[in-house]
Amino acid sequence: MKFSLSGARGILLLSLFYTFSSSALEVSGEWQQGAVIRGTVDAGVTLTFMDKNVRISPEGNFVLGLGRDTGPEVVLHSRDKSGERQHVYTVKPREYRIQRVDGVPSKTVNPNKEQVERSRAEARLVWKARQRDEARTDFLTDFTWPLKGPITGVYGSQRVYNGEPRRPHYGVDVAAPTGTVVVAPAGGLVTLTHDNMFFSGGTLIIDHGHGLTSAFIHLSKILVKPGDQIVQGQPIAEVGATGRVTGPHLDWRMSWFDQRVDPQLLVGEMPAQ
Ligand SMILES: [Zn+2]
Repeated sequence: MKFSLSGARGILLLSLFYTFSSSALEVSGEWQQGAVIRGTVDAGVTLTFMDKNVRISPEGNFVLGLGRDTGPEVVLHSRDKSGERQHVYTVKPREYRIQRVDGVPSKTVNPNKEQVERSRAEARLVWKARQRDEARTDFLTDFTWPLKGPITGVYGSQRVYNGEPRRPHYGVDVAAPTGTVVVAPAGGLVTLTHDNMFFSGGTLIIDHGHGLTSAFIHLSKILVKPGDQIVQGQPIAEVGATGRVTGPHLDWRMSWFDQRVDPQLLVGEMPAQ
């Protein structure tokens, strides 16, 4: 009796050890709100994160995104033939600014019923583009700024339009004159173009693969079309002042499916102008 008990214990210990040593998982990037986390796993490992099956490339690459208010902890589940393991990460919180924006055309602050319906239909198109799970792996690229200019708005800030609090701002705003060329910060597939959405004006979405997308808004001109495969540095659009804006600038937003992430964490400092 004593012998069989310790035997069972031995098998349990062995299988625990096997689980820990076999599902090799490596991640890079700081676990903070708005972060894009890239990682690799060994062949045969599957991952789930935020109730989603995480796409893994044939080379074992994957990407995750942490939204504005994620945390204080997240769990990445990995599974292979030996069993399941939970990887718990602490997400560093960020402090978000309050930004007051005055002088916005009042129709875009308090839209009428028709305008609300129009903006909802447009939001559905954007939502659909963000749900795609493309096999491409442009998300592995070192992202570069799509243009140079002063940063006039940052990710996460709480917006107050003409004195009325509204949803947070999710993009990074770069001021530049109308007509300034915007280039692709990384390669991808063009999945949505729209000349003039109610809030976002000229809108372009590029899919970098595995749920990571870039949206460029308030554009005056779009130089690519849905289905185009584009490369990093390629001209894709021109800066404008379309939609809910007070002046010409590029608003660059990024998402991992429904999680809004901060483009600035991928590109770092704006180069000198
Ligand atoms: Zn903006």
